[in-house]
Amino acid sequence: MYHDLPRTARFWSVLFAIDQDVAETARKEGCSCGGRLHYANYLRKPRGTPVQLPEPQRVRLSFCCDRDGCRKRTTPPSVRFLGRKVYLGVIVILISAMRHGPTPRRVHELSKRFNADRRTIARWQVFWREHFPQSSFWKTARARLTLTVPVTSLPYSLVDAFLSRHPDDVGWTLLLRFLAPITITGGL
Ligand SMILES: [Zn+2]
Repeated sequence: MYHDLPRTARFWSVLFAIDQDVAETARKEGCSCGGRLHYANYLRKPRGTPVQLPEPQRVRLSFCCDRDGCRKRTTPPSVRFLGRKVYLGVIVILISAMRHGPTPRRVHELSKRFNADRRTIARWQVFWREHFPQSSFWKTARARLTLTVPVTSLPYSLVDAFLSRHPDDVGWTLLLRFLAPITITGGL
């Protein structure tokens, strides 16, 4: 049963380390204009984290080009933040998944704990039910999955596919990595 988040501080620092790696790769590549990238992070205050995240982990890593006339922003994919949502990706996935899971009653409990109101959860549902299955990301990425993931029960079927093989931290980390491409603009 996958009705809770990994609670260890270690899990969150592993996610942060993955984000740092991905960001470092983007920084080394530089801007498309040939300019160098400098850190210009967004401070995020993710809601309802199961553990108190240390300050450095509350930022969405991002860059600005150093060339005058360009100054373009580059925000690499993240395993922690889903797009512009203030909630951590893992919370968005978990609460949405539980609507389809074996224990729908958990939704109420979880949304209370993470401070997510009905309207927010409804928006997440629309995302998983309507936008996500239609996305080109999903159309390509689903071919890489070796298990069948029924679209009608997204994202529960996705959580199930990953966590049934790798329980807890590892499964969550692999799932978040799988979804990381959709966390940037145009990634869907
Ligand atoms: Zn540039």
